[in-house]
Amino acid sequence: MNDVFEKIIKGELPSEKVYEDEETFAFLDINPTNPGHTLVVPRHYSRNIHDISEKDWIAMIKVVRALAPAIQKAVGADGVNIIMNNESAAGQLVFHSHVHIVPRFNDDGFKHWKGAPYKEGEMAEVGEKIRKQVGR
Ligand code: AMP
Repeated sequence: MNDVFEKIIKGELPSEKVYEDEETFAFLDINPTNPGHTLVVPRHYSRNIHDISEKDWIAMIKVVRALAPAIQKAVGADGVNIIMNNESAAGQLVFHSHVHIVPRFNDDGFKHWKGAPYKEGEMAEVGEKIRKQVGR
């Protein structure tokens, strides 16, 4: 793989790095939702949640947990969203696993996703389908 994040990790493309270790690399998103919007990427390639190894997932999510409060404090934010987009339908644009840390401000105007209640009986059906897939 030689995607844009691979190139950033290798130093072939510039980035505003905020953290790195043996397994992960974190840098500012070039098109931030708010200043400080950071991407945490495992060095080892995977496409997304569906093929990432447990080892890389744990490494990435540990770094997310460590960076989130530092980022929030650094930019004086009031909160932070942790987001991972998986596949195009979910808004994934770069097909190299990454988690977004998005600083949020009380007055930034971004709203929650729309929700709508289930129809009669639908919630139990969906729950049953998922439990079957999970298989325990
Ligand atoms: P996603 O939609 O979850 O795949 O998000 C990909 C993110 O990567 C977007 O928010 C882009 O702004 C960001 N991005 C793409 N290219 C670069 C780059 N060269 N440097 C930093 N961020 C980038």
